[in-house]
Amino acid sequence: MPQHTRPRPICRACDGFPVVAITTGSRHHDGTRTTLPVTCTACHGSGTRTPARRSVNA
Ligand SMILES: [Zn+2]
Repeated sequence: MPQHTRPRPICRACDGFPVVAITTGSRHHDGTRTTLPVTCTACHGSGTRTPARRSVNA
């Protein structure tokens, strides 16, 4: 029986890539480029879109 992977709601803000490394333009002493890890603020690094919270009726 084939396994069906449940379609996960991909975060549209980062398109499934929650953490990206950006180059700052500067370099380390060893010549490697300095990168900064940036976490998607929309999904907080999960890469998936969190379901919209329903308003709780008090
Ligand atoms: Zn995201």
